[in-house]
Amino acid sequence: MSSVAQTEKVIFQQEWGQVLAQSLRSSQQLLAELDLQVTDFPEGLSEALQFPLFVPRPFVKRMRKGDPCDPLLLQVLPLAAEEQLHSGFTLDPLAEQSTNVQAGLIHKYHGRVLLLAASGCAINCRYCFRRHFPYSENRVARGQWQPALTYIAQDPSITEVILSGGDPLMLQDEHLAELVERIAQIPHVQRLRVHSRLPVVIAERLTDQLTHILTGTRLRSSLVLHVNHPRELTPMHAERLGKLRQAGVTLLNQTVLLKGVNDSAEVLIELSEKLFDHHLLPYYLHVLDRVQGAQHFDLSSSEAYGLYQQMLAQLPGYLVPKLVREEAGQPHKTPLHAF
Ligand code: SF4
Repeated sequence: MSSVAQTEKVIFQQEWGQVLAQSLRSSQQLLAELDLQVTDFPEGLSEALQFPLFVPRPFVKRMRKGDPCDPLLLQVLPLAAEEQLHSGFTLDPLAEQSTNVQAGLIHKYHGRVLLLAASGCAINCRYCFRRHFPYSENRVARGQWQPALTYIAQDPSITEVILSGGDPLMLQDEHLAELVERIAQIPHVQRLRVHSRLPVVIAERLTDQLTHILTGTRLRSSLVLHVNHPRELTPMHAERLGKLRQAGVTLLNQTVLLKGVNDSAEVLIELSEKLFDHHLLPYYLHVLDRVQGAQHFDLSSSEAYGLYQQMLAQLPGYLVPKLVREEAGQPHKTPLHAF
């Protein structure tokens, strides 16, 4: 058995892995679950062979049956619009390949590095800015972490390691624990941050063992979830995130602003309030990274800023995320201002 197959076998032995294994993998399957027909999408669907549909059943259960405009459905269904080419939408919108300092490591901001701990995800989001990322060249399996860890150890300016992917929580807990312990052995690293969408789509991933991993070293840990719509959150999230917060993990959320999904002040305000009810603070509201295939989700900067102003007018400051854009080559995210 290959090591990938062995890894999958171990993951599938865990509760969240079993849920993941039952994910839907075709548009036909998904539409049948939702009582929809291909003809409900007059502009057609894409076969999306390079980046196929993949969506876990708990996320499907939160979609409305019979609604082709459901905001959760639109995040995962490959539409024919993905195949159109638009100027300004590229394969690598953030020029990450120029900051990919070695396999599995991206170093673009002062003091922080992104460690691509896993190449797979629990869901294929149609707006993903890494949908064309060369994961095959960046697959760093357990046992191959040393060059990345050596890079971090040799640069004392790096005080924070961000586990990213793919989705870093696709790592089985045993491997994640080993990686976190090895990072904690580097004296100048003070903080660990984990960015993940997996627990949003499969709340069972928020295990007690994950809490132990994130609180079991001297590192100050934060978990940044990627929730885009209030209907993505469930009572199980509230319960399990509550335990993580009690244990001392900082819980944040970042949202991508997506046309047809969350492009109304009403939805964004409801999202911020619901995040707080689920122990998460709104951190970033990102405008779309202009990746090829995602142009149908794009909003203009002035539309984005208009929504942000309505949030400012109606929410307490701590529930208003920072409205930002990521620009290739800039040393930080760029706040959007009035136009
Ligand atoms: S979970 Fe994140 S990295 Fe994975 S497809 Fe979705 S947006 Fe991309």
